Amino acid sequence: MSDKKLATIAVRTGIESDTQHNAVVPPIYLTSTYSFPQLGELPQYDYSRSGNPTRNMLADALAELEGGAGGVVTSCGTAAINLLASALLGPGDLVVAPHDCYGGTYRLFNTRANKGDFKVLFVDQTDPEALAQALAQEPKLVWVETPSNPLLRIVDVEALCRDAKQHGALVAVDNTFLSPILQQPISLGADFVIHSTTKYINGHSDVVGGVLISKDAEQAEEIAWWANCIGATGAPFDAYLTLRGLRTLAPRMRLHEENSAKILAYLQQQPLVGQIYHPSQPEHPGHEIAIKQQKGFGSMLSFEIAGTYAQLETFVHGLKFFSLAESLGGTESLICHPASMTHRAMSDEAQAEAGLKPSLLRLSVGLEDADDLIADLDQAFKQAAEVAE
Ligand SMILES: *Cc1c(COP(=O)(O)O)cnc(C)c1O
Repeated sequence: MSDKKLATIAVRTGIESDTQHNAVVPPIYLTSTYSFPQLGELPQYDYSRSGNPTRNMLADALAELEGGAGGVVTSCGTAAINLLASALLGPGDLVVAPHDCYGGTYRLFNTRANKGDFKVLFVDQTDPEALAQALAQEPKLVWVETPSNPLLRIVDVEALCRDAKQHGALVAVDNTFLSPILQQPISLGADFVIHSTTKYINGHSDVVGGVLISKDAEQAEEIAWWANCIGATGAPFDAYLTLRGLRTLAPRMRLHEENSAKILAYLQQQPLVGQIYHPSQPEHPGHEIAIKQQKGFGSMLSFEIAGTYAQLETFVHGLKFFSLAESLGGTESLICHPASMTHRAMSDEAQAEAGLKPSLLRLSVGLEDADDLIADLDQAFKQAAEVAE
């Protein structure tokens, strides 16, 4: 692993690597194909599905930031999940996934399991008994998402990896919500890390992308082979934009957290706010684990509206600086209603089982001035308070 600090790795990636013109910022290679020096002599790159200098630069940077041996940059986070499933799982193999995982992850595992590609078991991974029962079935892969979406549940990655290893299972962690700046699952024992780079890593809500990072060099090579085989790799232009976003990841994560802490303090005083879900809260069941395994609490937060659906609606529509949209991790603040938006692919029963209530709202706190964000929340709550109960 590199001895450079994470912010330095993120900023310096590819800087001054251009040997042609000494460009400080690395150039983008949009080419789909590469010429062979001569017949029978294979160049380093031959076709951009299998390899591209811009995309590989991003993959190497992300692998270094996560302390992995190698990574594959994919067309989206979902493609990274599908890539791991394709490379690792066959009929008869079991994957154990969290019952409250990202909606698209749930749909992907569920749909492919229904086709007979592999088996899936969704469990509450914060329930030690449920987890032990699942591991006793000798899964091939344990999928972890911590903090989880949208309830910010925390799984003890180190403990889970220890238990999983005893049952011969590999562990993959979806690290999208924290980024390597705030959590490095491989250092906690994970075998794979995936990101939807669409979120904090690109950070500007203008690219859909993903990455799958392997701890082990041999696994990394096998995954790269599969990525080429199934055509999961991302576009060079997207990789270029994501490299640009990556350079400011460390300071962005700090400011996201700062704004989020101020908003949490404000929300705690609001009569229309019910339960708040954020690992910084001492009463959050994962608070102590988050302190142990994370380098910050992160800035995603959810809360329930203690009022009617009409009040929730008025509140959401009254906001000016929180756009009603899915996704997260961009410079602009977003608000999402998980039950009808990100998690609508889950049945009502599955939502209820995951503890996801229709009164729940999720905030992706952006980089606007915190005072403006709080003033905006305040005027929207005042409008909602006036709606007849
Ligand atoms: C968005 C997201 C994904 C899926 O990534 P896409 O880039 O949208 O395909 C997976 N996991 C988490 C936690 C996400 O937020």
